[in-house]
Parts: sequence; C-alpha cells; structure tokens
Amino acid sequence: MSDVPAFSESEERQALRKAVADLASTYGHDYFVERARSGQKTDDLWAAVGKNGYLGVAVPEEYGGGGGGIGDLAAVCEELSTAGCPLLMMVVSPAICATIIAQYGTDAQKQHWLPGFAAGTTTMAFSITESDAGSNSHRIVTTAKRDGDEWVLNGGKTFISGVDEAPHLLVVARMEDAKTVPRPSDGREVPPNLKPALFIVPTDAAGLTAQQIEMEVVSPEKQFTLFFDDVRLPPDALLGSEDAGIEQLFAGLNPERIMAASFATGMARYALRKAVEYANDRTVWHDPIGAHQAIAHPLAESHIEIEQARLMTQRAAALYDSGDPMRAGEAANMAKYAAGEAVCRAVDRAVQTHGGNGLTTEYGMGGLVAAARLSRIAPVSREMVLNFVAQFSLGLPKSY
Ligand SMILES: Cc1cc2nc3c(=O)[nH]c(=O)nc-3n(C[C@H](O)[C@H](O)[C@H](O)COP(=O)(O)OP(=O)(O)OC[C@H]3O[C@@H](n4cnc5c(N)ncnc54)[C@H](O)[C@@H]3O)c2cc1C
Repeated sequence: MSDVPAFSESEERQALRKAVADLASTYGHDYFVERARSGQKTDDLWAAVGKNGYLGVAVPEEYGGGGGGIGDLAAVCEELSTAGCPLLMMVVSPAICATIIAQYGTDAQKQHWLPGFAAGTTTMAFSITESDAGSNSHRIVTTAKRDGDEWVLNGGKTFISGVDEAPHLLVVARMEDAKTVPRPSDGREVPPNLKPALFIVPTDAAGLTAQQIEMEVVSPEKQFTLFFDDVRLPPDALLGSEDAGIEQLFAGLNPERIMAASFATGMARYALRKAVEYANDRTVWHDPIGAHQAIAHPLAESHIEIEQARLMTQRAAALYDSGDPMRAGEAANMAKYAAGEAVCRAVDRAVQTHGGNGLTTEYGMGGLVAAARLSRIAPVSREMVLNFVAQFSLGLPKSY
C-alpha cells in the first residue's frame, strides 16, 4: 500500500468535512440570509455545530475538546461556508480566543474557559482594531492601568464583531507604563512600540458601551464601536502574564488568518457551485450558457484559484499544527491573500454568470459581494499581507 501523499488531507479530516457538510446542508444559504435580513442570529446552527463537537475540535482533550489542530477547525469553518451558512464567530471565538487561552492562560483560566469552548457553549469576541490605529496596531491607545489588585481599562475599539452575541470579549490593550516616546522624524510624542496585554472583559461590564455600526454586509454577525470608560476588572481578567502579551497576540494571528482563508475559500466554493448550476441550466441560444467559453473559462479559472488557495491554507494549517510558527506565519498570510482574491473573483464571476439574476434577492448572489470584499480587508488587508511578503519573504525595505 502506498503512503498517503503529503498534500492530501487525512481520512479523519475528510470524514470531518463530510459530517459538517451534511449538517450544514440542512441549514444552507436561504436559512442564513433569512436570519441575517430579519435581524436574527444563527444560534441554532452554532448550537448544533457545537453539540457535535465541531467547534471544540481543536481544544485539548483534557478540557473536553477534540484534541485536533487548527486544520480541523479550519475544515469545519470552510465546510459551513461552502454550504452557504458561514459562522463568522468561528474566526474569533474558537480560533483566536480559545487558542490563546489554551496556550497562555493560567491553569485556572484554562479550567474555567476551555470546557465551554470545547462544548461550543462559550463564545468570546476579539477586539484589537481601533479607529485611529487601523492596520497599525502599534498605535492602539486603549490602556490598562493597575489600581491595587484591579485593572482599569480606558479607550475604544471599532468594527468588533459579535459583541451582542458573546458574553465576553478578549481585549488587546496597551500597558499604561509603556509611555509615549518622541518620534525620531519630528520629535512628536507618540505611543511607543506596543507592549500589549490581553484582558477578558464581560460585554456587560460597567463602563463599557457598544454602538452598532450599520454595515452593508448581509450577515447575522454585527459590528460594534466600543467605549471603555474606567472599566474595572478583577486581577484574573488579565490573560496569562502581562509580559507575554506580544507572544499571545502572535499566537492568535496565525489561526485567525488560516480561519479567514477557510471562510473565504468556502464562500468562493459556494458561489462557484451556484454559478456552475446556473450555467448548466440557463439556455438563451441553443446550448446552456456554460457552453460559451466566455462563461466557462472564468469559472474554470476560479476553480483553479480556489484550489490553489485551499492548498496554501492546508499547508499553513499543517505548518502551524506541526509547531513551526514562522513558516506557518508566512503561509497563513499567503493563504489569506490567495483566498481573498479567489473569493472576490469567484463571486464577481458568479454574479456575471447569473446575468440580471445575479442581482436579484431570489438568487442571493449580490448579497455575497460585500461579504467577499471583506476577505480583502479583514482581519488583515491585502496590502498589509503584500507588505509582509515583500519584507519578510523577499527582503525588500519597509516604506512606512
Ligand atoms: C465586517 C468586519 C468585521 C471585523 N471584525 C473585527 C473584529 O471582530 N475584531 C477586530 O479587532 N477587528 C475587526 N475588524 C476590523 C478589521 O480587522 C480592519 O478593518 C482591518 O484590519 C483594516 O483596518 P482599517 O479598517 O482601519 O483600515 P486602514 O488601516 O485604515 O487601511 C485603509 C486602507 O489603507 C491600506 N493601508 C494601510 N496602511 C498601509 C501600508 N502601510 N501600506 C499599504 N497599504 C496600507 C489598507 O490596506 C487599506 O486598504 C472587522 C472589520 C470588518 C469590516
């Protein structure tokens, strides 16, 4: 018997994909859109996925999880997305928050939080983005100050997903003792390179207010601007140790990018499947429109681009799960880029294939356009990935 080729997923992973795809097919895109447009959540889908152990597939077994890796969690995320019912909170809650807690939490924090992540009953939002810092996380100003045993948080965040769904929020803050420094170019006082610390904050904490941002993305998950006004937190709100903040943050970034890539390739597969169905069915001359190469070739190109992005995502996950964070980081960035490009092109081509129906509510293609564009912007923009690859992979100088 020949060895399983290194580029193929294990039988267990393939079985996991099939099980998730079967479950997700009983919900589908109509369910997702109906929930999103009526202002409801996809809680029942989340609960079903959690009950089957799929949300906790990467949580260590000793806390009740599946003991798998980020590749397993990414497979779950991709299959839900491929079925037309993506769960955006998967990118933040089990992928970023549970991973960081599992790697850096105190024993007490692991005992407290991980069984809930394993069962899918704990949901946690993640907040790093700030309006004035944007892609430059070094400039975040949300500040944590010690006051006796307690911590006091002040500042604000923006575009934070799922604050209305998650009872808790993982907040990236700057430690107060990291003071401002004069900027070499003009001597202006600016925050120094970030010394972050991560805090677990209840979303109903006194002093924390959330304002929903009206978005054009059709999704049950909403985004919020947050204001922290003297939010007092107990000592154990600090995740792990205050000296490991930057490592903690990096530990969450690779899973986030791998998950975002999977979210995108799933959506791209969904759009392509719909386009192919339509192209096989719709006839306006004597053959189905899919017989015209102007329709067929772009769809074939998308299939190739999606498969390339999936391969790079699986490679990134395999590197991450093998304990190689540097190479995983490069691959995760490239996977995220490839997936973002693939989904934007696939959705655009799917809309075009549908003609006027590409913009009808009935066919649901138009609603995917903004969702697909998100993959070029968040959690890291395509330009910041290109900066990373230019500098890290190619050794080119930095311009900013
Ligand atoms: C739907 C949605 C959900 C989100 N959910 C979350 C969440 O749950 N938690 C969270 O913390 N954040 C979240 N975000 C925020 C997201 O991560 C940011 O929008 C993203 O990182 C980009 O930051 P920005 O919007 O401030 O863009 P900016 O940083 O203002 O960038 C604007 C443009 O300038 C480009 N640019 C900036 N600097 C450079 C440079 N040096 N070189 C080249 N180009 C550059 C960028 O690529 C981009 O095209 C979400 C955003 C959206 C839209």
